[in-house]
Amino acid sequence: MKKILAFALTAAVSAGAFAQEFPAKPITIVVPFAAGGPTDLVARQLAEAMRKPLGGVNIVVENAAGAGGTIGATKVARAAPDGYTVLVWHIGMAATTSLYRKQAFQPLEDFEFLGMINDVPMTLLGAPKLPANTYRDFENYIRANGGKLNLAHAGLGSASHLCGLMWQSAMKLDKSMTTIAYRGTGPAMNDLIGGQVDVMCDQTTNTTSQIEAGRVKAFAVTTAKPLSNHRLLKDYPSLQEMGLKNFNLTIWHGMYAPKGTPAAVTKKLNDALVVALKDPEFIKRQEQLGAMVVTDNRMTPAGHRNFVAAEVTKLKGVIDAAGQFAD
Ligand code: ASP
Repeated sequence: MKKILAFALTAAVSAGAFAQEFPAKPITIVVPFAAGGPTDLVARQLAEAMRKPLGGVNIVVENAAGAGGTIGATKVARAAPDGYTVLVWHIGMAATTSLYRKQAFQPLEDFEFLGMINDVPMTLLGAPKLPANTYRDFENYIRANGGKLNLAHAGLGSASHLCGLMWQSAMKLDKSMTTIAYRGTGPAMNDLIGGQVDVMCDQTTNTTSQIEAGRVKAFAVTTAKPLSNHRLLKDYPSLQEMGLKNFNLTIWHGMYAPKGTPAAVTKKLNDALVVALKDPEFIKRQEQLGAMVVTDNRMTPAGHRNFVAAEVTKLKGVIDAAGQFAD
């Protein structure tokens, strides 16, 4: 008994000492999509903004892409729970449990929630060669040619996949487009620009600069109402306005640590996250990309967890209604 007590005391003291000196080496943020894509961009801006509040430690972004984000998420769920490996992921955290019958992790059980980051609307895009210039023409063109067109996405459970699934289901197409999975919408965007694929629904964090440069055609936004305050996207209609009843999709990002990471460490990470999210420079950079930093209540671990739990339930309904889970 004495021995067990002594062991427990030593363990508690060393966990405390460990938490005190955290971070003592570089932290890795795992992004479960390809470099140069929308989630990668959010994570890199965040890594920069969190560095100072974490005492100037190096924060490295590692892209562990594939399977709609589930490969990178699995990697973090299985990493040592010491705060040195964390995940930045989006709505896929809540969607993939309904899409994958066999998943190596459970979102609400296998992670510590560190806080949410932002909300990001999406944009419906076409290759520059498409003959349509308005959303109405675009939809008519897809109805007439659906079977011959390719829709790019970042893998089963990615935001672009989810958006394509919901959009095609809302349009009630006779013939669905063929979907092409990439390791992220960064590489998918190159093929859309080149015309190797025809259509994509992607996060504004990735689309804004391409639309501005005229490299792709934009047709609509996925939010319930148009983005009337967005410098570039304000003139595009929402899908609801275009007759797709109740269509409303805004994706979000959050930060996670493996389950079992000591509370003192998750607190340090959350504190640094909150400082970053309130940094005017970070807020400005996010706004330029069309992303909105979350409100204070969603920056907390509890607010984050509650939000994701509600999204798991909501998305199960949406995915079941769309009725197709695999490519
Ligand atoms: N966020 C993904 C990426 O960074 C794309 C997606 O989810 O559709 O590539």
